Amino acid sequence: MNLVAKRMDGIGSDIRGKNFWAALDLEKQGVKVLKLNTGNPAAFGFKMPESVREALVANMDRAVGYSDVRGMIDARQAIYDYHVSKGVENFTMDDIFIGNGVSEIASMIATALFDKGDEVLVPSPCYSLWSNEILLSDAKPVYYLCDESNGWNPDIDHIKSLITPNTKAILLINPNNPTGVLYSNEVLLEIAEIARQNNLMILSDEIYDRLVFDGKEHTAMAKLAPDLMVLTMNGLSKSHVLCGFRCGWMVISGPQAAREEINAAILKVASIRLGANSIMQTIIPAAIADTEYPNSMIRPGGRLYEQRKATCEALDAIPGVSYVKNDGALYIFPKIDKGAELIENDKQFAYDLLMDKHVLIVPGSGFKWAQPDHFRIVMLPEAEILRKAVTDIGDFITKNIK
Ligand code: PLP
Repeated sequence: MNLVAKRMDGIGSDIRGKNFWAALDLEKQGVKVLKLNTGNPAAFGFKMPESVREALVANMDRAVGYSDVRGMIDARQAIYDYHVSKGVENFTMDDIFIGNGVSEIASMIATALFDKGDEVLVPSPCYSLWSNEILLSDAKPVYYLCDESNGWNPDIDHIKSLITPNTKAILLINPNNPTGVLYSNEVLLEIAEIARQNNLMILSDEIYDRLVFDGKEHTAMAKLAPDLMVLTMNGLSKSHVLCGFRCGWMVISGPQAAREEINAAILKVASIRLGANSIMQTIIPAAIADTEYPNSMIRPGGRLYEQRKATCEALDAIPGVSYVKNDGALYIFPKIDKGAELIENDKQFAYDLLMDKHVLIVPGSGFKWAQPDHFRIVMLPEAEILRKAVTDIGDFITKNIK
């Protein structure tokens, strides 16, 4: 008898895969490694917002018991108001579920909504949480292309060509991880129309919605598609640099009957796990009210803005590397122009880079990108550290990819 479920064969994340463990081994040997594998701001000196610290101290006694399985009422009220302020309608306070990060929410969705044989359209490249959770529910992720030559926007014709009678849902990550692109309303409306025509549910992971540069604005998919079933995911890991708090949520919006059916299934899953961590829920109202914290990072002079600038400038200086400038999020996904021709295995490429330059990146295959010619940079270290790291990556590419 197998000790381990067969489905585990396809499961895994290169963000914490073999190269990550190799980086930890290097560190154990006393080597300093710059780990650009994960979007964890606190690891790069980003500090807890003062608003959150105060709320934490003031509310900790409220966190001793299990919370409402959907989430604390005042936290859900703040989440409700936030999404209403973004123009989302057709949902109630009870259509909000707070989870231990969007990661747990993704697992709840996959468990409650997907059966074996269901197909879920997911972007390529894709943040691996979603493909893994779909596989764990025995459903099938079907990858639609995001087109680098069109600013990493989803290839609408490709999406249409992938639809079968088994297609149940389409996932959007907007702003995107790993490309950092922000989708325009036109693109969102085109995807909504495909969902409408084919009776698909939309999963919209909007965890980076408050981290958008250059005065651009994020539009909630649910706002543009009030007649469709939309599950919107968001949280505080990135906007308020609170990854360790494990604070995420989902909003189920759309037509009442379908919404109630989905809600009842999610409620069963939420009830089994008794509730999300209470202490992080106590700070949700204060964090959501603190819009200055995310804004201070993305404006000129702010850390994220300046780090993105340094990253792009350093990338510009590398011959044979191109990229689409990101609109938001914490990432950029450059292309090694001759990579498809000259790199056999991008995980090996990332390993060799780690050993040579002591910089850990995640190669494109970690995001289900088919060609061995991309890698993701996490733009979280201070600008000068990033500039040096990207220059080192460039030296490695120039030396080895000819
Ligand atoms: N969704 C996306 C697109 C992400 O990039 C991440 C983390 O990097 C998550 C979800 C996970 O977020 P959380 O910390 O809320 O589990």
